[in-house]
Amino acid sequence: MSGDTIFGKIIRREIPATIVYEDDLCLAFRDIVPQAPTHILVIPKQPIPSLADVTAEDKAVLGHILITIKQIADQEGLTEKGYRVVTNIGEEGGQTVFHLHFHLMGGRGMHWPPG
Ligand code: AMP
Repeated sequence: MSGDTIFGKIIRREIPATIVYEDDLCLAFRDIVPQAPTHILVIPKQPIPSLADVTAEDKAVLGHILITIKQIADQEGLTEKGYRVVTNIGEEGGQTVFHLHFHLMGGRGMHWPPG
């Protein structure tokens, strides 16, 4: 159920990660190089490379991930002050791991536009 990326290895528990949430469809763990006091990655267990690769068949898992992000943000105490959710797509989008992931970042003021 997981592809050959570093995130696939985390799903299969072949490398360690600080997991904060897991269910049948998705996994959430702390980013190893945090860009904010709270920086969590939320990924589907299904190995979709990026948002550019999703199809209508992925509607349920994508909706589930967004609702999960909201729940994790609540649990992490981010909701009152606000937070940012980002997914990078492809080379110019700044994507480095080609397993779809949503960055959940909070705990500091965010800048716009991002770099
Ligand atoms: P992106 O550049 O959007 O593809 O984001 C990939 C993210 O994965 C970066 O923020 C990395 O710091 C993070 N990352 C890479 N390897 C690991 C790992 N083993 N555990 C947790 N986060 C990781």
